[in-house]
Amino acid sequence: MTVMFEKVAILGLGLIGSSLCHAIKAKGLARLIAGHAKSAETRRVALEIGLVHSVYEAPADAVVDADLVILCVPVGVCGALAAAIGPKLKPGAILTDVGSVKAAIMRDCGPHVPKGVHFIPGHPIAGTEQSGPRSGFATLFEERWCILTPPENAEPAAVQKLTAFWEAMGSMVELMTAEHHDLVLAITSHLPHLIAYNTVATAADLETVTDSEVIKYSASGFRDFTRIAASDPTMWRDVFLNNKEAVLEMLGRFTEELAVLQRAVRWGDGETLFNLFTRAREVRRGIIAAGQDTAAPDFGRGRPKV
Ligand code: NAP
Repeated sequence: MTVMFEKVAILGLGLIGSSLCHAIKAKGLARLIAGHAKSAETRRVALEIGLVHSVYEAPADAVVDADLVILCVPVGVCGALAAAIGPKLKPGAILTDVGSVKAAIMRDCGPHVPKGVHFIPGHPIAGTEQSGPRSGFATLFEERWCILTPPENAEPAAVQKLTAFWEAMGSMVELMTAEHHDLVLAITSHLPHLIAYNTVATAADLETVTDSEVIKYSASGFRDFTRIAASDPTMWRDVFLNNKEAVLEMLGRFTEELAVLQRAVRWGDGETLFNLFTRAREVRRGIIAAGQDTAAPDFGRGRPKV
């Protein structure tokens, strides 16, 4: 691989930030990686395990001379971080992010981006329920989609360069508007997380079933919900605070469909249940056919430890 950037700054060194560091190093895409994270402990670990060449307490110090700056922090933090680094961004640099919501990030960061800096928000559709600087790995983005939401006046050459960067990560890149991104992700990612959190919380609150029974007899469906519900609470709080309209729209549609199912269960309407389950199953088959998941019965994760 050829070096694409002399210096990359990664702000936020959790799952996504540390995975980017591993991948950039493994593929030789930058000569230098500078990092920043909120806590001294994360900054210490980042140096200890060699994620970055240098790490800074002040985010503005990390971005000096960087050709590519990637915000890898919770969505609600991006605006403040952009304000802090804005004055130090190098003319001609690309500023991007990996946040799970895009319109709010454009709104919060846009005003802090100086003229001559190319601001192109992004979102890799790749992740796990793990977090922190030790959770990343170089192959996280391989064969995953990365959505870029360039503003209308974005310079094509900068969009092209960021596209090439994500393709070097092994990702497939798609461009769309921030608003469209937020609507699509509301149904494919945000709503499923809300349902998982709620399902697990409901089970935990059951008074007639003990905690140990919930754990002992957790069928695979519930186990999958618990995996999703193990995701970072700060990250997900920020997603729902910043994609309110789209999530409420999808939640409205979802509850209407749920009422149909509820009615079918109540009245023993097997045909409605069967037809809906059949339609849903086709979606799963489509995802496997598109290579976005494995057909293994345990989703390729191996047997859980009992
Ligand atoms: P994470 O593992 O929890 O890491 C978050 C990082 O942000 C940590 O290094 C944390 O520093 C840092 N941070 C938090 N608040 C900060 C602040 N005020 N100033 C500076 N640094 C701060 O989270 P993640 O999973 O990598 O998620 C990062 C972003 O990626 C989020 O916007 C999320 O929406 C997006 N994303 C996540 C996934 C996923 O599956 N996890 C997938 C795609 C996109 P400390 O360690 O010092 O606290």
